[in-house]
Formats: sequence, C-alpha cells, structure tokens
Amino acid sequence: MPRQDPSVKVMISLTQRNKMAELFKKYHILTYGCQMNKNDSERMAGLLENLGFEPSQTWQEANLVLLNTCSIRDKAERRVFGQLHELHHYRKTHSKDMELGVMGCMPQHAQAFIREKLPFVDYVVGVNNMEDLPNFLGHGYTLSQQLEQLRTRRTKKDVNRFEHKLAKQVRASGKKAWISIQFGCNKVCSFCIVPYTRGIEISREKEAIFKEIAALHEKNVTEIVLLGQNVNSYGMTIYDDYRFADLLRETATKFPWLEKIDFLTSYPSDVTQELIEVIASYPNITNEIHFPLQHGDDSILKAMRRRYTVAEYRLKVQQLRNRIPDVRLGTDLIVGFPGETEEHFLNMLAVLSEIRFDFANTAAYSPRPKTRAARLPHQVPDQIKRKRLHRLNEHLQAIYKTNDNNPHFTQTNPHLAQAR
Ligand code: SF4
Repeated sequence: MPRQDPSVKVMISLTQRNKMAELFKKYHILTYGCQMNKNDSERMAGLLENLGFEPSQTWQEANLVLLNTCSIRDKAERRVFGQLHELHHYRKTHSKDMELGVMGCMPQHAQAFIREKLPFVDYVVGVNNMEDLPNFLGHGYTLSQQLEQLRTRRTKKDVNRFEHKLAKQVRASGKKAWISIQFGCNKVCSFCIVPYTRGIEISREKEAIFKEIAALHEKNVTEIVLLGQNVNSYGMTIYDDYRFADLLRETATKFPWLEKIDFLTSYPSDVTQELIEVIASYPNITNEIHFPLQHGDDSILKAMRRRYTVAEYRLKVQQLRNRIPDVRLGTDLIVGFPGETEEHFLNMLAVLSEIRFDFANTAAYSPRPKTRAARLPHQVPDQIKRKRLHRLNEHLQAIYKTNDNNPHFTQTNPHLAQAR
C-alpha cells in the first residue's frame, strides 16, 4: 500500500468513505477512564459513523477496535496493555480481519513504549489529534509516522478543528449528555500526568458550547454535565472577563428545559463567591459539588502543589454550606503521597471527620512518568499505601453511616483513575 505523508490532510471523498466502510464495516471502542474519555469516545464514534462504519455489540465482531486509554494510574495502563495483547491474540488465532487502534492519554506520553511493546497496533491517535484517524485508516502508515502527528496541546486552531470534525457524537448516555467545555490543565499538580497528556488548558468558545447544548433539546436530553479538568477556570485562557459563573448562569437561563446542569471537576481555590451565588440561584443547577481536597495536611498539599491550604478549603466548604443548605460535597483523596507520615495521614482523617463529605473517591498514590512527585524522595512503600487506603475507606464509611443524607461512596478516584 503506498505510503503518504500523514501530515497532508486529505479531504475524505465519498469514494474513500465507502472504501473505508467496506474495509472495516464494524467498529468497537473500549473506553477506560474518566468522563472526558467517555465523551471523546462518543465523538470518535460519531466520526466513524459519519464515514459509514457501524457499531458492533462486542469487540469480537468488530473489524476496527479502538482502545481509548487512561494514564492516570499505572494500573490503568497495565489493563490496556493486557487487553491489547488479548485482542491481538484473538485476531491471530481466529484469522480475524480486525485492525487495532490506540487513542486517548497513553499515546501522549508513552510513544517509546508503544513502538517497542505494541508494534502490532495499526493506528495511534492522541487526545489532541483524534480527528486525524480518518486520514490514517487504510493508508498503511507506520506507527512512527502516526506518532509524529501527536500534539502536546490543543491550540485555538485545533479547537476549531474539533468543532468542525468532531461535531457529530453518538451519545451513549440517554437523557444525559456530557459537554466538554475546556481541554487540558494549567494547574500542574505534582502527582498528576494530565498536563502532560492533555496539555495546557484551553476553553471552547461559549457560542460553540451553546450550539451543542441547543441541539440536544430535540434528542430529549434533559441533563448535561459540563466537563473539564478544572471547569471553574473556564474562560481564563480565551476571555478577559467571562468566567465559569457566567457560563453556568447563561446556560441555566438560555436552556430552561434542562432539568439538571452538572459540572466536573472544580478546583477548590477557583470556587468563587460569585459561582456559589449562581449555583444557589438556579434550581436546575446541581447541588452536588465535586471539588477535590486530595489531602488534609498542609505540608502534603504543598508538596502536591495544590494552591490552597486546609484552612482555605474549609472556608470554601463553609461558604457553600451557608449559601446552599442542601449542598452535597464530594472530594478526591490520595494516600501514600511521597513523604506522607502516619501523622500526616492522621491529620487527613481528622479533617475528614470535621468536613464530613457526602461522597469521596480514594486512591493510593501512583507515581506517573514526567511528574515531579515521581522524583521525590521518601516514596511510601506499597504495603503501607494499601493499609492506609483501607483505613481511609473504613474511616469514610463510618462517617457516611452517621451522615443524614444517604451518601454514596466509591473507591476509585476519578482524578487518578481516569479510569478521570
Ligand atoms: S490533579 Fe487536576 S488540577 Fe491538578 S494537574 Fe491534574 S487535572 Fe490539573
């Protein structure tokens, strides 16, 4: 098959579309991780169906299987690795006409690993160039050629490409729809790989977001979730004075048919009084606020490069509870961060007893490549991490039992387990 330069963006003609549909016929996407990834999979499904592909119920039936990967924890990547080998083994032993693709976070930081350990993969796109997949399909580009097309961030031009090429989505979530309002993150917490996978933060223009929401009405969608790594820093990268509180207010006003407007995830210090006021003022805006504390000891928060202290976080909790009496507060928590002592850990438990969250996602710290925390001394042994995680979960369960409002609980930290 002749190889072309994949950087030359080709227009997909009708003939090519038919050829691709004939080539692959059925697709299946296996999604790991957070809601951002799930939303990306919906967009990828829309892009493929636009080319004439049909979804298959199982991956065994598909001619094109894509794994939308998560890198937030080592365990999530090992699962992807195992799944890819299983798929490869299946297609060999069943002589199955099946091509394999990797998308999502893993290609953004693990190119050498993909070249060396996954040479049988046919397609690779990252979070910032997933709309390139149609240019790769059926063209026989090498993995190296495709990996060269990865982008470390989305520029404004890329966001426009996103609006045009990835506009169609196959919504998997019925009456609820996820809406990405920004990409990337500028906070660069020392434990987190997201800034290295999704790049620096850029917001979508509000008009594009409103257009996407408006189109949901005729599809009987009644709930939306506005998605971003830090939704409440929305607008900072593209507008002088239009912020998340403005977006939320305008969404609630423009679309009164929306029964619930949810959002994920909020960075504690960006929860402003104005935002709290907007949440309190509109009945269709959620009263569940997920804003990750991550730890309850100031020295660990500092080492994590979180931009708040426990006292500042506590103040946000008070402001939220004062203004929104029925607010439900959720958090993410990490145990076993480098340097965490028994005393730091007990400080965290004490803060949790005081704040009494309604829900929490917990995880043991997992060192990630490129991050500052992975290079810190005094890494906590796995056995201690596991024990502390167990104790933390028991502590939270005891709190939930005495909470009045029937909270729910999960052991998976969405920020860490993108599997957010
Ligand atoms: S933990 Fe959240 S705020 Fe911190 S760098 Fe990762 S995505 Fe950004």
